[in-house]
Order: sequence, then structure tokens, then C-alpha cells
Amino acid sequence: MKLDDRLEDVVGDRTARALEKAFELRTLGDLLRHYPRRMVERGELTDLASLAVDEYVTVLARVQSALIKTPRSAGARGRAAQRLEVVVSDGRGRLQLVFFGARNTWRQKDLVPGGVGLFSGKVTLFNNQRQLAHPDYKLLPDEAMAEFEADLFAGALIPVYPATREMPTWKISGAVDLALEALDQVPDPVPEDVRRRHRLLDFDRAIRSMHRPDDLDAWRAARQRLTWDEALALQLALAQRRARAGANPAVPRPAKDGGLLEAFDARLPFALTAGQREVASVLTDELASDVPMQRLLQGEVGSGKTVVAVRAMLQVVDAGGQAALLAPTEVLAAQHARTIEHLLGPLGQAGRRGGADQATSVALLTGSLPAAARRAALLDAAGGAAGIVVGTHALIQEHVQFADLGLVVVDEQHRFGVEQRDALRGKADTPPHLLVMTATPIPRTVAITVFGDLETSTLSELPAGRSPIATFVVPEAERPEWRERAWRRVTEEVAAGHQAYVVCPRIGEGVAESDGEDEPEPDPSVRRPPLAVTDVLAVLIEGPLRGLRVAALHGRLSPEDKDRVMADFTAGRIDVLVATTVVEVGVDVPNATAMVVLDADRFGISQLHQLRGRVGRGSAPGICLLCTAAEADSPARRRLDAIAATTDGFELARLDLEQRREGDILGAAQSGRRSQLRLLSVLRDEALIGQARNEAQALVARDPDLSGYPRLAAEVAALVGQERAEYLEKA
Ligand code: ADP
Ligand code: MG
Repeated sequence: MKLDDRLEDVVGDRTARALEKAFELRTLGDLLRHYPRRMVERGELTDLASLAVDEYVTVLARVQSALIKTPRSAGARGRAAQRLEVVVSDGRGRLQLVFFGARNTWRQKDLVPGGVGLFSGKVTLFNNQRQLAHPDYKLLPDEAMAEFEADLFAGALIPVYPATREMPTWKISGAVDLALEALDQVPDPVPEDVRRRHRLLDFDRAIRSMHRPDDLDAWRAARQRLTWDEALALQLALAQRRARAGANPAVPRPAKDGGLLEAFDARLPFALTAGQREVASVLTDELASDVPMQRLLQGEVGSGKTVVAVRAMLQVVDAGGQAALLAPTEVLAAQHARTIEHLLGPLGQAGRRGGADQATSVALLTGSLPAAARRAALLDAAGGAAGIVVGTHALIQEHVQFADLGLVVVDEQHRFGVEQRDALRGKADTPPHLLVMTATPIPRTVAITVFGDLETSTLSELPAGRSPIATFVVPEAERPEWRERAWRRVTEEVAAGHQAYVVCPRIGEGVAESDGEDEPEPDPSVRRPPLAVTDVLAVLIEGPLRGLRVAALHGRLSPEDKDRVMADFTAGRIDVLVATTVVEVGVDVPNATAMVVLDADRFGISQLHQLRGRVGRGSAPGICLLCTAAEADSPARRRLDAIAATTDGFELARLDLEQRREGDILGAAQSGRRSQLRLLSVLRDEALIGQARNEAQALVARDPDLSGYPRLAAEVAALVGQERAEYLEKA
């Protein structure tokens, strides 16, 4: 059997279906890449103190006691309210298992004190004690018990797989046994010289040892090898991207004396910061070269990236080309267009009364424009009348044409996959220059991994005159009355002449606004559905914010309504904006000083950091209140506390990285979908990533399509995903 063969032929239909349902495993290869989370030695019980609340765990522990309890207060219903309380121990700490109901006598007989077993379930907190309610369990068979000491010396290892209630670790383990038995020797995808240089285990050994190692060292070596494979596939994908991007020369777009850019600089109401000037001069040079620019510009929210981008766009327009600015939401695209038109003034009014001689024009192109406006924008883009075209994903659509696209600016990269970036670049005959902007600071190892095809610049200082933001967690679990205080605070800010945002996770009727990419697992202790803009708006107008001018903003409003609401808010005709994360990026209303985030635990770290960047943009200090029903000491609460404790974006980025599943980070960067990367950690594996990067660079230089390495090419294809492969075929 081969890795590509279907599971049902090996493990049977029922198990195959269950594995597919639980983990989307369909082939032998899928199952064998469902790696054990850890190996426990039979003699070594799980350290119970290490269990995290809310996690689905499997522990090896010894039964201490198993008692049936009948609450006295239950009266006649006593039997029904009975529960079996089992205490298991690792020799130091203890963990309680609870089974509710009267039919647990057989279990009590099963779980005799002294017995050792694997127990699986979700860790919950009850009376400040960790417990598993209704765990699945499997006691080690008697023979195993008899051989217990011997096994300990033999170092027999028990793999613990990521599991679910329906698919517990021992069932997965059984399926893996069958799969390994059926599997023929697997040829190695990685060239031998690479393996030798880095002393890598061969693939067949590695995949087997990953599941059934002789000892812990063998397991570590297997992990190391398989981690290497992931790093190599990722770096190959990036090396191929770099090679493709550099293969064709770009049109140089040198700065021009007496052009739009000079006129723009003269109009700017402020002086550029030193950081902005530095980045600007790098961009000026790179745009003037025939090597396509590939640059990532990172800088805190409000650090002034947009102005830098506009300058770059004007340089390209001066040189006869066009620039496209891609924004993640319609609200933001519309706002960018407005901001740019405002900054340009007469310089952006070509053909209109009052327009400057050399003026260009700005076109806005979004998915839901009325037909006439859309046609006009398409014409301006295709005919070259619009020097600057601002838009959303709609810009990527096939029938959008440019006369001479010289620069693509992507704002808030984390919302875009690389395919989209590539698709837009594909709109030019020669590769356009590329500037990617992100407000989420990116630690270096991530930069070389995720954005390995881009050079990085950073704007580290904020323009002068910015005010600090104070962030507080409003713990509704313990202090429900604090929510009222939050509304009082909003009322006070409005009374002082300021404005406020209220952010909700949902629009209404089950519609989620965000792309889901950045969202943490919802806190399971919070059972109610997430709060919705439409519901919250109604409650606020009737109650705590009665008398204030309150309006809603979310992705399902028509473009005209969105524009009108944003314009009203900007002009101060609305006091409080109840919104989804559409306000997350770029929305710029300096008079807004307060933000209340409801269900804050449902947002990711960088999302919240972005959100609060919306307040404190003017001279008055900002306040951000993170309301949450998550319980004290839950992971969600710790995340929120961390955000409240610092405004250092880099620190938060690192924290974000530690808390998010790595695969998601890498996966989002690659294809926006769940990732193939299981083992690779951009935090832990920096050295290995560097090695893999060098090997990948050399391999791609030798064989750009990897045609001599079909299995490696297949892994890269699996990694970068189907959509991307399809795109490449078209290109
Ligand atoms: P970012 O895109 O990095 O979040 P913006 O470019 O939107 O930041 O800038 C935020 C605000 O600061 C805007 O109102 C912008 O006009 C203003 N700004 C930008 N650069 C400067 C500067 N050098 N001095 C003063 N204000 C600036
Ligand atoms: Mg911005």
C-alpha cells in the first residue's frame, strides 16, 4: 500500500468514516501525518498539574478512589442526581473524574483503586478544581499491568494522539498499527545529498518511528526529520515565488522633477517623520530600478504608512504608470479613496474644475458599486485616466484591466492570501512593483518564513501629538455591573464632545463579519451566542445610550449606507458607532476617544490591537474597554489581560504567535486555509528554517520547477494549495 491509498481499504469502512469525520483523514498518508502529540512511558504518569483548562486531554493516571455520591438535598430524585466521583493521581497531583446519573455502578466496579488507565476528556474547572466530566477511558489490560515494571525498563512508549470523544487516542492508535503494517517502504522525497548534509533520518524510518519509536530519542529524530520536510516544502514554495517574481524585469519608474510627487509634498500639512523619510527614500530607489520591488512595510496603527504609500503611488504616476491599492474591506477601500483624494486636493482632480494641470484622478472600484459607477471606474482604470485605483477583492476580478499597472499596494496583508497578491500582479504585462503594508508587527523569524519573498521596512515611531490608549478588561463573569459603567463612560466621552465605537462580533442572525482567520476558539465557558450589532444597537438606543446619536455599521449595509454612516461619523453627526470589525483597519476619526468591545474574547490578539488603534488618534487620550464573560484565569482572560497590559505591538505579536496554532499562521500566509504544516514552529525552529531556506534556494536555482524532484514538487503543491496551483496553470 502507498501513502495515497484510501483508508477504508486498510482500517475498514466504519473506522475510515469516523476518521474522516473527526479529522478529515482520507488516505494512509493523512492518517500517518496525524502525529501523536506526545509519547508517554507506561511507567510515567501524566503530570496532572500541567493540564490546561478547556483543553481536550488524554492522561495516563492511577485510580485512587471511586465513590458514588447522593446529594442529600435531592430528596426523592436522589437516585437520578447521583454521581460517581473518581479521583486519579499521577503520584503528586490529583484530578477528579465525574460521571453523573444512577447507572454508574458498573463503572465503579471497573475503576478499582490502583488500576492504571488512559482517561480522555475536556478539562473543566469546578469549584476551582480541575476535572474531567464523563471522560472516556481505557484501563491498561491486566497483562500490561503484570508487565508494568518490565515495560518501564524496556521504555515502552504509548502514543497520545490528538483525539475527540468519538475518536479516542487508542482507536487512532489501532488504525495507525494497521496502516503501518500495510504500508510498503516509502521512497524518500528529499534528495540524498541534502539528507546527508543535515543528518536526516530517511523518510520511511521517520514516518514509522513517529508513531512507533523504539525510544524517545528515536521519536525526537523522527520529529526532527518530519519538521525538516515541512520547513523545506515551505521554503521551496517561497524560493519559487522569489524566482518567479524576479524572472521578468519591471518597468523602472524613477522620480520626476517638478511632478505630482513634489507638488504633493509641498501640500502636506505636516512634515514627514524621520522614519517615513527613510522608508520613502528606499521606495524611491527601488521603484526606479528594473528589479521588481517586493517590500513589506510594517508599522503600528497610525504610524503613517498610508502617506508613504501615496507618495510611492505618485512617483509611479509621474513616470506614466498607474497604481492600485488593495484594501481588505469596502469601508476601508472607500475611506482610503476619500483620504487620498483629500490629501491630493486639486492634484487628484484631473479634468474637473479646479483640477491642477498635471492632476491625476482616483477611482474607487468595489464589488457592490452601482453599475454605472462601476463602468466608469473600470473605464478609468483600463484607459489610464485614473492614476490611482483603490479597491477591494473586486480589483482582482478578471475583467478589471489597467492601462499600465506599475505598482500594487496591498494594505493590511494579513487579510490577503498570496494568491490574491499574485493575481493582481498578473494584471500587468511586466511585473509591477509591490508594496505590502501591515500594522501587525511581525517578528523576524515569521518575516523570513511567512513573508520570505519580501524585504522588510519598519516605521517604528508614531507621528508627534498622539495620545496614549488605556485598555481595561471588564470581567462580566465576576462584575456584571461593570458593563453599565462602560456605557456610563461612553456617555461621559460624548458629553465631553468626543465619539465612541462599540464593537460586536456579529452583524445579526448568525452572520459573522470577519474572515475567521484571526479568531481564537471561542471560550467554551461562554455558552450564549455572540452579541450582534443589530441586537446591541436596539438595546443601547432604548437603554444606556438613550438620547445619543447612535448608528450601526457593518458589512451587510449597502455601499451607499456604509459611506453615509462613515461620513456622518467622521463629520461628528453620529456620537456612537455600533460596528463589526469593519472598523478594525484604517478607519481614522481623531475625535473618537472611547471603544467598548463586546465579547472581546471572541477576537484575536492582533485584531483587538488593531481595533483599539481606532481611538486615541487625536490629541485626547483614548480608552478601550474589553468586555468579556470569560472566566478569570481562562486562556481567553489571560489573552485579554495581556493586551490590556501593553501597547507594544511586537510583544503582542510574539504572544499571538505563542497562542495561535502555528499551522494557522503559516497556513494563512500560504493559502488562507488549514495548513499542511503540523510540526514546524516559527518560534522553536528558527535555525532549521534557515538551513531549509538555503537548501531550497539552491534546489530552485538548479531546477526551478522541481521537475527532477516530483515528490518534493507534489509536497509543495499540497502546501500551497489547489487554488494556487490552478492560478499557476493559468499564468
Ligand atoms: P497607518 O496607515 O500607518 O495606520 P496613517 O497613514 O493612516 O497611518 O496615518 C494616521 C494619521 O496620521 C493620518 O491622519 C495621517 O494623515 C497622519 N500622519 C501621517 N504622517 C504624519 C506625520 N508625519 N505627522 C503628522 N501626522 C501624520
Ligand atoms: Mg492604514
